[in-house]
Amino acid sequence: MRVVKRTKSLGLLVATVAAAGLVPLAAGQAAAAPPAKAAAYAGSCPAAGTVTQGWSSGHDGVDIANSRGTSIYSTGPGTVIASGPASGYGQWIRIRHDDGTITEYGHMYERLVSVNQRVDSGQLIARMGSEGDSTGPHLHLRVYASTSATRGVDPVPYLNERGVNLPCTPGSGTPGTNFTTWGTSVRVRTDARLNAAVVRTLTGPTAVNVQCQKHGDVVNAEGYTNDAWSFVPALGGYISNIYIDHPASWLPGVPEC
Ligand SMILES: [Zn+2]
Repeated sequence: MRVVKRTKSLGLLVATVAAAGLVPLAAGQAAAAPPAKAAAYAGSCPAAGTVTQGWSSGHDGVDIANSRGTSIYSTGPGTVIASGPASGYGQWIRIRHDDGTITEYGHMYERLVSVNQRVDSGQLIARMGSEGDSTGPHLHLRVYASTSATRGVDPVPYLNERGVNLPCTPGSGTPGTNFTTWGTSVRVRTDARLNAAVVRTLTGPTAVNVQCQKHGDVVNAEGYTNDAWSFVPALGGYISNIYIDHPASWLPGVPEC
């Protein structure tokens, strides 16, 4: 089956990534102080990984460990009130949520949001690292009941109240987006890399539900060049976006993994 496609270029890719918010948004004024006892927000998973240390009197926060570069997401909607270097953390991000609570993220090697930026629940804000006082890549997540609190609360019940149970899977609970593949001998790989294992091969156009997408190895095929890959849970892996039948290199409305 021949599928006529419009050009997918890296130039378009860069432009759409910028439009998707990986550069600071026109920051709007920081939200006014939220009303007291605002309803708890609908939460999102902060990061995939293993909970290696819970909250205790000696550890104000919860540690979620995974490989360097693992995506970190805002647990809820809010405004970034800190993003930069921080003692002990190496780098930190603090978000004041609409219910008045604060979430604090530490040790990341890359921050993707800046102060006064508005973020959504589940928005990509950073990449996991091992900066500062840390022995391996992990997210230290701390939660404060308000801006005036000096000690955090246990993030596990805090997130549970907001519909998130640790350990968690980013994007779970949010339905994916349906597309169709095109081309023949389309390989599904365990990661967005050309040397990742092939878990199956699609022999022809196939309906796929894409949960998220991410940047990986640049693929040159069928006259297109693209470094974006779609994650299809039902197929157990990633497909180069070249083979998703949509003109955009970076699929609109599909979150970053
Ligand atoms: Zn910690």
